[in-house]
Amino acid sequence: MKEKTKIKSVAVLCSGGDSPGMNCAIRAVVRTAVANDLDVYGIQRGYAGLLEGNVKKMDASSVGNILQHGGTILQTSRCPEFHEEEIRKEAAHILKRKGIDALVVIGGNGSFNGAWSLHEEHGVSVVGIPGTIDNDIEGTDYSIGFDTAVQTAVEAVDKIRDTAHSHDRTFIVEVMGRKSPAIALHVGLCTGAENIILPTTEDIDFDQIVSDIKRGISRGKGSSIIIAAEGEKEGLSHRIKEVLKDKYSIDSHTCILGHIQRGGNPTAHDRFLASQMGYIAVASLINGEVATVAAQRNGKVLSVPFKECLGKKFDTDPQFIDIVKTLSI
Ligand code: ADP
Repeated sequence: MKEKTKIKSVAVLCSGGDSPGMNCAIRAVVRTAVANDLDVYGIQRGYAGLLEGNVKKMDASSVGNILQHGGTILQTSRCPEFHEEEIRKEAAHILKRKGIDALVVIGGNGSFNGAWSLHEEHGVSVVGIPGTIDNDIEGTDYSIGFDTAVQTAVEAVDKIRDTAHSHDRTFIVEVMGRKSPAIALHVGLCTGAENIILPTTEDIDFDQIVSDIKRGISRGKGSSIIIAAEGEKEGLSHRIKEVLKDKYSIDSHTCILGHIQRGGNPTAHDRFLASQMGYIAVASLINGEVATVAAQRNGKVLSVPFKECLGKKFDTDPQFIDIVKTLSI
């Protein structure tokens, strides 16, 4: 790594929803900092912990034997006060008082917006590491935790398919994704789902769903899986079940996968991504950058301007849907 060190110390925190692989990223940040003679601090419980001054010095041993575990050793939190400029000013003062020159934030869109404001308003050097199972951060192909969440959901749906097939049943499986279609699309494609319902689908095309189920039955296929992204209003799968029963006399079963998609050991893909992102994050600070994100583009992890990663992406590549429909006839 080229030595152009402008900073002497760095702190790392996790913010927002946790995602598998965050520990890998923390380990990579800490070890890269130590290897480059920087003081490194861990901030417990995100921005809330920062405001409480919950900051502790870390060393290479602090992050031993963690890369394979889900969750985050630093814990994470939501901190509504951080939306206030005065509160962010206080956070900047705390970092200064503790002698911390730069902040690495591992989190999703909200956390990135907080970090960006801290930089814009108070000149804090920040680096973002995309960590969210929703894979909805603009400017990076993937975020840490998405692959593990998809893998967990796929394994669960495979098990449900066994039962659905044995009993000729229709299952509605609700996966995570309040505003993001990514998990539903990937899980749908990987499990041969007959239908996918995205979080923005306001008017569900029940006639089409039922016609797909009936087409399958007519060629001897007994089971049918509908993957539904949870959306913002609770109880989607139950509402779908009711309509199928009341309007079309079709019996179905529901399964809400819920928080199992958030936990568990990160997949090799997420470890691979998180380790590189943690390294690149610290490397960019050492190279004198003041506001970047360690993003993946075209398969390569690199340092990109923070501003390019503030938006929320909503990727509903029509080709995905077409592949799902074509392959599940
Ligand atoms: P995620 O980072 O996973 O998208 P949230 O949207 O809940 O999760 O955001 C996590 C935290 O980031 C919030 O609790 C808040 O502390 C901070 N945050 C979110 N949005 C903003 C914003 N626009 N400005 C400042 N801080 C924000």
